[in-house]
Amino acid sequence: MKENLVTWDLSVLYPDTESWEKEFAALEAAADRFYSFKGRLAESPELLKAAIEASDEFDRLAEKLYTYAHLLCDENTSIGPNRARVDRISAKLSALSEKESWFDPEIMAIPDERMQELLNAPLLAFYRRSLLELLREKPHTLSEAEERLLGTLGDVLGNSDEIFSTMNDTDMSFGRLRDSEGKLLDLTHGSWGSFMEAPDRKVRKKAFHQLYRQYRQYRNTLAATLDGTVKRHVTMAKIRHFDTPLQAALFSENIPENIYNNLISTVRKNLPQLHNYFDLRAKIMELDDLNMYDLYAPLQPELNQKCSFAEASKMVKESLTVLGPEYTALLEKAWSQRWIDAPCRKGKRSGAYSGGCYDSYPYILMSFDNRLSDAFTLAHELGHSMHSAFSRSNQHYHYAGYEIFVAEVASTCNELLLSSYLLRQESDPKVKASIYTRLADDIRATIYRQTMFAEFEKLIHEDSAAEIPLTADHLCEKYYALNAGYHGFIKADRDIELEWSRIPHFYYNFYVYKYATGMAAALKLSKGILAGEAGAQERYLNFLKAGGSKDVLDILKDAGADLTTPEPVNDALAFFGETVEELRKLLG
Ligand SMILES: [Zn+2]
Repeated sequence: MKENLVTWDLSVLYPDTESWEKEFAALEAAADRFYSFKGRLAESPELLKAAIEASDEFDRLAEKLYTYAHLLCDENTSIGPNRARVDRISAKLSALSEKESWFDPEIMAIPDERMQELLNAPLLAFYRRSLLELLREKPHTLSEAEERLLGTLGDVLGNSDEIFSTMNDTDMSFGRLRDSEGKLLDLTHGSWGSFMEAPDRKVRKKAFHQLYRQYRQYRNTLAATLDGTVKRHVTMAKIRHFDTPLQAALFSENIPENIYNNLISTVRKNLPQLHNYFDLRAKIMELDDLNMYDLYAPLQPELNQKCSFAEASKMVKESLTVLGPEYTALLEKAWSQRWIDAPCRKGKRSGAYSGGCYDSYPYILMSFDNRLSDAFTLAHELGHSMHSAFSRSNQHYHYAGYEIFVAEVASTCNELLLSSYLLRQESDPKVKASIYTRLADDIRATIYRQTMFAEFEKLIHEDSAAEIPLTADHLCEKYYALNAGYHGFIKADRDIELEWSRIPHFYYNFYVYKYATGMAAALKLSKGILAGEAGAQERYLNFLKAGGSKDVLDILKDAGADLTTPEPVNDALAFFGETVEELRKLLG
């Protein structure tokens, strides 16, 4: 019998599209109200406060309108009027951005002495943190004319990113290939993952070579696009008076460079555990020559784990009871208030996300397909949604949003708690082994692999700053050497030297290290919770409630994960080592 899956309730956001239209019509007036403060911010604390409130009011309304439009559209992207609503709100917001962009430069232009008076005004005490955050950028902000010039050049400067994504997503094609069952399928970015997970090694190897053949053909162009982006990062950092492009990229979240560098050195010290895992993989897979295309292959291809939505819901709820009654009570609302849209549906946006805004539920979109991995997706997205729900109910709108740096901590923590729960419940060694494999592969991909990427990014930015041209040969040589260091004894197929050419994240400006630090923090926090450490549960809830009210490193430190020390990363990789040992006992 087919299960009836839950759908989300968007009617609490707007009962119908007409009420959306009514608020949409009021958006311009909200922008005008904020704009009326232009040129007057330094006049008095009362005026500055009123301006900030008007800005928040506009943003809050804009987010509410946009959230409804895009959620409704994602239910079924083939419905024309729903797509049109997203286009209308997007166009409106970009047209109104001019009425929004004056605020920051005007604050920075206020003379220091006057600014100090404003900052000391009791009336502005609540907004002091966000004003200071803005003023932190002052030494890195140029004159108004220069900023305007850079603004108009924005599209031009981002050209190499655009060329890369157009080429990679649209122009390049990788042909067709037979899967393990002999079915002829397109090799695409989307199907690449399942080819790498094919139980048949010949299929994996063929897919690997077929994909990289194309990248090799275009390697010079792809080196030129990456070179263009890296040069832009290097140049912008110089223009904005930063010592290094790394320092510039970490500035907005107030992360010191040593956090990044310590991550790399700590992960490097812990490479023996990774090599140990590869050794075990080779044994279980009965291969003398484990290669790059064997790292995602299933260790127990015969295992086919199914799970209904009702079972997944029960598992996720029970696994999260360790977070205490306050968490559990709010979690229950995900079902009772209908936050989740779970059914697979034609036209539905693919993938999964947690969305919403300050004035809505923290909605979840996913396509539940009765696999055990869907239960993990549910736990993951609920981690995001619960983080948002706690932040929104405990913080004023102004400080409710949290930074990307902490965004994956709550979601990863939930996945880890689910793994731990399943391991406690399960007695079948094969199923247990599959959970350990999942854990080991997650940590490998999130901490080891992303740190290798982070090291590569640092290296190519340093080369570019030293005026070493990033040619395809140079990039291949550096990437292959780095890969060899991280993967140890693996006889890496030469084609892996081209991997840099297909990774979109290398265009994101020092982004991927956050995946590694986020997972290390999540492992640290979940460990304390599971061990029943005194105060761990309360500290974790305080982290969820903090939103963006403090610096990210302080929020995590208060929660129990101090990323200014190597401890969380060291502990995470020690846990990885233990996981591999458990797996060895079960399958080795
Ligand atoms: Zn996530």
